[in-house]
Amino acid sequence: MDYDTYGSTAVELAIDLANADRDAGPDWATAFLRAHDEWFSPGSVLDLSPDETGQAATTADLVRAVAVAQSEGEVMDRLNALLALAHPKPYATDHDGALHLHYARPDAPLLEQLTTTVAMGLSQVVVQHGWQRIGVCSAEGCDDVYVDTSRNASRRYCSNTCASRSTVAAYRARRKA
Ligand SMILES: [Zn+2]
Ligand SMILES: [Zn+2]
Repeated sequence: MDYDTYGSTAVELAIDLANADRDAGPDWATAFLRAHDEWFSPGSVLDLSPDETGQAATTADLVRAVAVAQSEGEVMDRLNALLALAHPKPYATDHDGALHLHYARPDAPLLEQLTTTVAMGLSQVVVQHGWQRIGVCSAEGCDDVYVDTSRNASRRYCSNTCASRSTVAAYRARRKA
């Protein structure tokens, strides 16, 4: 599957945001932003106010809501709620050495950069590759979301760790039976 189009890899930021550990307390957003600083304009202040942190959590919840949706209608409603938070303004840049497009204007406030990149990245992938490509891990005790980039759309787990953990558990269950 080819993400090498406008909109491509920004879906990874959406997935990571949905999976961010918010139990860590109100600083979760700052920790997330620092760990993903390559997505924001150079020089952006990687801090959010408490109110903005709440809005980032809403964005994360909407990404998760898309991942757990059971129908195209549900996906559409949730994507549109997410897109309503976005202020896209395509912008060409070569800050990392390769010419590419960003969704948010470079001088946008950080929350706007985050929301816009997440909303547009996720929407592009859903529209181009199908909403079933965004899912929730099937492993017991894990509810991380993922984007399925496998050729035949067969992914069920967020990570190799969860996949092998589940294989072992299924094997043990079969032996018990
Ligand atoms: Zn960039
Ligand atoms: Zn998992």
